[in-house]
Amino acid sequence: MKNLFSLLAGILFIFNSFGQNNPVNYDLDFTQKDQNIVHIKTTLDLAEAKNRFFMFCHPSEKNPEGEIKFVKNLTVKNNKKKDQIVKYLGDGTWEIQSATLGSYAIEYDIITEHNTENWEHCGGYDEVAYKTPEGLFFTGYSLFMVPDIPVLADVKNVSVHFTLPKNWKASTPWIKTPKPNDFIVNEDLRFLLNNCIFVGNHYEKEIKIGDFELLFALGNTIKANENDFIGLMQPIIESTTKFFNGSPKKKYLIVVNESSVITDGSAFRNSFSQIIKGKINKNSRTNWGHIMAHETIHLWNGHTIIPKGQEEWFKEGFTDYLTNILLTHTKIIDEPTFYKRFENVITRYNIIRDLQQNKTSIKESGTNKNQNRYLVYGGGTLVGLGLDIEIRKATGNQKGLDDFMAEMYTQFGKTNIPYELKDIVAAVNKVSKKNMQWFFDDYVTGMKRIPVTEYLFDMGLQLDGYLEDVYISPVENPTQEQLNLKKGILGL
Ligand SMILES: [Zn+2]
Repeated sequence: MKNLFSLLAGILFIFNSFGQNNPVNYDLDFTQKDQNIVHIKTTLDLAEAKNRFFMFCHPSEKNPEGEIKFVKNLTVKNNKKKDQIVKYLGDGTWEIQSATLGSYAIEYDIITEHNTENWEHCGGYDEVAYKTPEGLFFTGYSLFMVPDIPVLADVKNVSVHFTLPKNWKASTPWIKTPKPNDFIVNEDLRFLLNNCIFVGNHYEKEIKIGDFELLFALGNTIKANENDFIGLMQPIIESTTKFFNGSPKKKYLIVVNESSVITDGSAFRNSFSQIIKGKINKNSRTNWGHIMAHETIHLWNGHTIIPKGQEEWFKEGFTDYLTNILLTHTKIIDEPTFYKRFENVITRYNIIRDLQQNKTSIKESGTNKNQNRYLVYGGGTLVGLGLDIEIRKATGNQKGLDDFMAEMYTQFGKTNIPYELKDIVAAVNKVSKKNMQWFFDDYVTGMKRIPVTEYLFDMGLQLDGYLEDVYISPVENPTQEQLNLKKGILGL
């Protein structure tokens, strides 16, 4: 949840252009050197790429090569099986030194020692690759070399074949073919790269929820808790589908492993990875369940409804607002926990605005997401609450944020058209039948304080305290109007 490279990759490559439909297959052999190496073979048409191919990498000061450090024994042959001279240009890009353009057979090893480096600068090791006692986790970025073309979506016919040790399986978000360990990548090259997989002798569980096929890949220490995950994911997927009035993809992979470092999650195109530190039970679910629900809601807001530029306040902030209200709706968290979560959000907002005197607008805060976390997530959440209340007040509680998000989903999710701030305003105006431009001028691009106390009061809640010490409680003798608004938002 703390990284945007995966989403940016999606934005960069979303624009359509001419098609290229030569099939691309990747052969992954996990049977060599006790799984300390993955041997990869592919044939890439590099004509359009002018004989260049690349792999994503995230260099750091300590590891200037990033993921490329783990690429070894690269060989390239032309279609006459003649070895080619390859020059590494840096930044994950190679060039074949040939006068002619064409298709090339490329082979290389990935050394599975990513855990020897620190990946905090790009979202943590769970966004790159790691090893567990049961097997190996990878994102597509850390495994696959692809043609250096401007539009990865142009390459549509992509498949992956695994050669595995006995008793191993490959859990992927891709479509199984009748052949064992063989998959077709749904859609295009972006879905090869911007996804995660787990390969090993781990536990796999498939469940169906409506149109959803949910595949869990669980580490052995996590397996005992499979029902905790299903008990969370089932209601979250159902309620999110209802909220957006539709659901995007049919197959999702969820990889869950224990971590000695941190509890964290990362969403990809149609998969996500979750690592959990500490005990897994109902109590700790308030923590990891929030992350898991947040990442799931990104499958709609973030990975299907995609911004044209930087709209982190909407992508992260609204996703976090929805996480809080849908977890309450589904009774996964109780009302006091909802209060506590919102108290935390308000506290952070107050610290940023009052103690630190930070004058960055909520919209601008996303340009420096890590530094402005409290504004992106917290400020964005409060904008979500404000907008929910304003839409409800404008429509006599007949419409709410769900109708607006469903409108966004229809206009931008189903069509793959990236949205901008003006599209958000237009969708809000359409749903509320009022001109709500002022709301965005004040609270999103402007610096007006979000009147949290008033908004909470509108839904029958009282906010006391100040700065980092705030308390939410139900008002005494709420009006029917307040109760209706609260019911509309929280289902309570
Ligand atoms: Zn997020």
